[in-house]
Amino acid sequence: MNVTELARKLRYRTEDLKQILPEFGFDIGMRAIKVDDRIAQQIIKAWPNITRELDRRERAAKAERAAEEKKRIQETAAPVALPAIVTVREFALRLGQPVTRIIAELMKNGILASLNERVDFETASIIAEDLGFKVVSESGEAAESAGSADRLQTILGEEKKEALAPRPPVVVVMGHVDHGKTKLLDAIRKTNVMGGEAGGITQHIGAYQAAKDNRLITFIDTPGHEAFTAMRSRGAKVADVAILVVAADDGVQPQTKEAIKILEAAKTPFVVAINKIDKPEADQERVKRELSDLGVIPEEWGGKFAMLPISAKTGAGIDKLLELVLLVADYEKEKLLANPGGQLAGAVIESHVDKGEGPVATVLIQNGTLKNGDILAVGGAFYGRVRAMKDYRGGLIGASPPGTPVRILGFKVAPQVGDTIETAADARELTRIKPVKAASEKIAAVEKPQEEATKEKKLENLIIKADVLGSLEAILVSLDKFSHPEVGINVVAKGLGNVTEVDIMRAEASQAWIAGFGVLVPNQVAELARGKGVEIRTYKVIYHLFEDLRQKLEVKLSPEIVRTDYGDLKILAIFRSERDTQIVGGLVTEGKAARDARVTVRRGGEEIGEGTVMELQLHKRAVAEVPSGSECGVKIKIKSALLADDLLHFYK
Ligand code: GDP
Repeated sequence: MNVTELARKLRYRTEDLKQILPEFGFDIGMRAIKVDDRIAQQIIKAWPNITRELDRRERAAKAERAAEEKKRIQETAAPVALPAIVTVREFALRLGQPVTRIIAELMKNGILASLNERVDFETASIIAEDLGFKVVSESGEAAESAGSADRLQTILGEEKKEALAPRPPVVVVMGHVDHGKTKLLDAIRKTNVMGGEAGGITQHIGAYQAAKDNRLITFIDTPGHEAFTAMRSRGAKVADVAILVVAADDGVQPQTKEAIKILEAAKTPFVVAINKIDKPEADQERVKRELSDLGVIPEEWGGKFAMLPISAKTGAGIDKLLELVLLVADYEKEKLLANPGGQLAGAVIESHVDKGEGPVATVLIQNGTLKNGDILAVGGAFYGRVRAMKDYRGGLIGASPPGTPVRILGFKVAPQVGDTIETAADARELTRIKPVKAASEKIAAVEKPQEEATKEKKLENLIIKADVLGSLEAILVSLDKFSHPEVGINVVAKGLGNVTEVDIMRAEASQAWIAGFGVLVPNQVAELARGKGVEIRTYKVIYHLFEDLRQKLEVKLSPEIVRTDYGDLKILAIFRSERDTQIVGGLVTEGKAARDARVTVRRGGEEIGEGTVMELQLHKRAVAEVPSGSECGVKIKIKSALLADDLLHFYK
């Protein structure tokens, strides 16, 4: 076979083909014109593997170029100041990057935005930092605020080195919805949590501890980005290591990408668990390829990320995963130290108000040991006193050393997720604050539609579903800016992932409509929505959602017209007729005539004009009303000429 013919078959350039074939064991020579048919067949057969390898190389080269460019920017570029909201065009200009590049980067993050569309500071800084830029907000503060003012770091900094002892690592599970985060946490809980006093029944308090090789690992039990960012938004750095779960049958999805961004921004080391490998359609290679495209390159391909195949369903690989987590934690050893006898610091990882017990919070002890009766403080304010502490097995405990998650009763004021809890020797040292609404109450208030706030304002009830937390937050931030004395938006519920049956039921119950941003509406869900008369609209661009909202609010604003009919008067005589005023006399035949009224004129059953009452006279005296059966004089502002026997209908 001619080499050119072979190249045509493979859709590859002849010269390039000659160049690469030797590398794959087919040494046909640079000057070859013909190739042996048998060898040609072998080449054709091996071609899929060859192209895969070539693809991989190209991707690696591309990633390397991007990394080099990023490094160059990191080393040379001055910090870029960004405002709270910036158009894509302006954003590109400030970074000195082509607009197309910025749009492509946004797209990689699941945001479809055009030139004039606006992105918020958070999104813009993620993109900019991705490209290697340092970002400061235009008011001058560095973007990375969380973590820097970390109270825990201050407290640890004050501890004596000798007093520090290792504490269990704290692990979070992140990843796209439905990729198996909850199932993995359950699987670990089932097999690795020691039975203990309460008979092995674990309670969901927001965190639990598992044992592996006689070492404890603390798992944060609320998977997902919202919990992680909520903790960080208040300055708490809770997790030491993360497990990024990617389903082998679904590959990298928007929330996978977002999780990587969030973890990178928080500088949290992570391992990848390629989940659902028990499924026949599982494709681990695909997951690795897609992650590599994002710069998360597996160890076996020369990268620094451990990737482990697991099945949360069968339990396969979970043991190894825990080993791996401990290994990563060991790299961070010097950060996993605390003084059990030192000053107390704990991060609130869950908080709610219980009907019977009042404010209840789960706190992860990070330094010191919390004991019954201890005073609870946040930011120098009195928050209560420890009345009881329960661990994740439901057992009462008297003292919680570092690394332990405990549910605490005794708060007078509900703390917020991410708050740092401290103690004080004397409650009098602390400021007193009035119980304010806790975060959990605020959320509860949002979940309850059409109450208090609705009394005056007309509210548009809305459920928002978004593909990634970044978009959700951007939407919520922008919604906050909708402010009007008469109308408003009430977010009944919000969440990540596709629109589900639960959303429909909730929308029906709260008379809300559903806005989906970058998410899908499965057929059976759409059907249910139709059946229940729930409106779902999906968007790719935040701006379009706002346009729709504005329209809906405008409709709500348009005045309601209430018509009150007063009565009829039959004209008996015309006293004076001018161009646009007429004075007539007549008999009220029905209801009443009123001064604050408008009138329509009917002649022979047909409406011939309308006007406004200017004056009403009964026995030559001005009056407000004239009852049925009386004769009166009326001065009317009207264009049409009136005649005797015309019928005036009074209304407001
Ligand atoms: P999350 O949204 O990431 O918390 O996902 P879930 O843990 O709720 O899992 C989503 C779905 O995938 C559930 O129906 C699980 O039963 C299923 N699932 C999770 N892990 C596995 C797995 O390893 N194998 C199989 N076959 N299914 C799994």
